[in-house]
Amino acid sequence: MLRSNHKEGKQQQLSKYVYIFRSLITCGYCGHKVFSDYSAKRNKYIYLRCYHCKNPSVNENIILQQLEEVFSKIILSNQEIKHLQDALNKHFEEKRIRNTELKEAILKIVEILGNLSLFMQQSDNKAKNILLSLLLSNCTLKDKKLTYTLNKPFNYLLTTPNHKEWKDIIIKHLKEFKKMVLMIEKM
Ligand SMILES: [Zn+2]
Repeated sequence: MLRSNHKEGKQQQLSKYVYIFRSLITCGYCGHKVFSDYSAKRNKYIYLRCYHCKNPSVNENIILQQLEEVFSKIILSNQEIKHLQDALNKHFEEKRIRNTELKEAILKIVEILGNLSLFMQQSDNKAKNILLSLLLSNCTLKDKKLTYTLNKPFNYLLTTPNHKEWKDIIIKHLKEFKKMVLMIEKM
């Protein structure tokens, strides 16, 4: 009895586990979905693999490292993030924007995109999965390398290292950010 309870508990835990790249990546050779799997051999790690062709499987950490190289190009200090948020709040007041969900989502996205590396380190897998699905499309794995396109409207910010331009970019694309509010709230 005890043993079966234990087993059930374990299965529940497993089913709750969210892989970071769940449903995000397709195989660059055959176009099938790339799955995440857990390797219990020697060093425990998560690897990504296609079950339909010989595209080599790859440790999830290697793909995370490839993203980190891009994400770490933009790092705002806490003070810079605060400054940007204050400037946006001031704009919302001036324009009498009363949509609280939108305002909160925008402030949150500034905080996250301002230091993506830190967010990726500190968040659980579910939040990472939501964030990556927000930011990236056409994720393709081929020979242990991930290619992707950055989604609008986040690409406008992520391709603008000079954060002093972020306020104007966000205001210009406010409608596009509005469409993302529900997803951003889930993070
Ligand atoms: Zn394949």
